[in-house]
Amino acid sequence: MAASPTAMRKSGMEPLNESFVETDSYDGADSWDALVFTEPPSKKLYCLLCSKIFRDPMITRCGHTFCRHCVTGKYNNGKCPVDKAELDIMVANLAVAEQIGELYVYCQYGTQPSRDGFPFEVNPTGCPLTVRLSAKRAHEEDCQYAPTRCPNNPACPVLKKRDLEEHLKLCKHAKCPHHKYNCEFIGTAAELTEHLSECRFEAIKGFLHQTEKSLTELQATIIQKDQEIGFLRSMLGKLSEKVEMMEKEFELKLTRMETNHNDLVDEVRSDVGLLHQDLSDMHESLTVSAFDPQQIFKCKGTFVGHQGPVWCLCVLQDYLFSGSSDKTIKVWDTSTTFKCLSTLEGHTGIVLALCVSGSKLYSGSQDCTIIVSTVERLSVSPQ
Ligand SMILES: [Zn+2]
Ligand SMILES: [Zn+2]
Ligand SMILES: [Zn+2]
Ligand SMILES: [Zn+2]
Ligand SMILES: [Zn+2]
Repeated sequence: MAASPTAMRKSGMEPLNESFVETDSYDGADSWDALVFTEPPSKKLYCLLCSKIFRDPMITRCGHTFCRHCVTGKYNNGKCPVDKAELDIMVANLAVAEQIGELYVYCQYGTQPSRDGFPFEVNPTGCPLTVRLSAKRAHEEDCQYAPTRCPNNPACPVLKKRDLEEHLKLCKHAKCPHHKYNCEFIGTAAELTEHLSECRFEAIKGFLHQTEKSLTELQATIIQKDQEIGFLRSMLGKLSEKVEMMEKEFELKLTRMETNHNDLVDEVRSDVGLLHQDLSDMHESLTVSAFDPQQIFKCKGTFVGHQGPVWCLCVLQDYLFSGSSDKTIKVWDTSTTFKCLSTLEGHTGIVLALCVSGSKLYSGSQDCTIIVSTVERLSVSPQ
């Protein structure tokens, strides 16, 4: 799992081959390099790739453990230095990580870079505390040996946090709390107390404070209103875009409706015209037929010639055939002359029935016979 003692001896604490490039690009690398342990940690807790204490130890597919950044950074060409296997992270080595977290180290404000080969050593004037590596960061956040700056003047020397209070008593750069209103007083804390009793801004500080508060509120309101205006503007833009689109759509629809309407009106007009025509025609014919039947059935002529009553009639083209009690059939011209063109004799009884088919005329008589005559070029001859 961890580097075997043999492998460790072989490699020592030095990089394993020429391709090894040390980078401190990963987060917190500097503070990791600056660790000063109270007792030298076990060699088993050192990474064979970077020769440092494991940072975020990971078990690889071949079963060995290396820092996460050593595996992902393709140190040693991505090959395990023990068995030359391809390095591939499997899972975090929580046991080793926990072991490392339990190691005691000096607070970073209790160490300093050394001159004799080791990167860092204990600083006798710094923070004397030693903490577990897992608790180091939390301690350092409020370590009283952490460096800090004088708030009065950046030119004052860098101080330890625990010395700040003492420094502020003596610092000659204390400003009047009303310096933002252009009070130019600068002096020690004691001088400041004295100055405040006569500072012209101190007398009206209640008013100034109130004014400042109102101003801040006003600024906040302005910012809020600005945001609201921005929002409304964008809404307005969207709305006007929408309205424009609707207007275009409406215009299009209106034009379409107008065209349809005009077409419809034209159609109705022509229909109404036709109806009017029909109506007046009907009216005319109605008037004529209702009040003057003789206008409809005009007498065109009278056929005279039979010697007895006429029993039957039959029409072929412009010819009318008539059968009579006088035992004859007469052929009449119905187009121009209205005269008898021919008289067919042959029956010995009254001619009672006539009919035509093609160019043949059939006549039935009281004498119990039917005579068939051919009608050819106006001359009719019995067959
Ligand atoms: Zn490593
Ligand atoms: Zn391996
Ligand atoms: Zn400390
Ligand atoms: Zn100062
Ligand atoms: Zn003042």
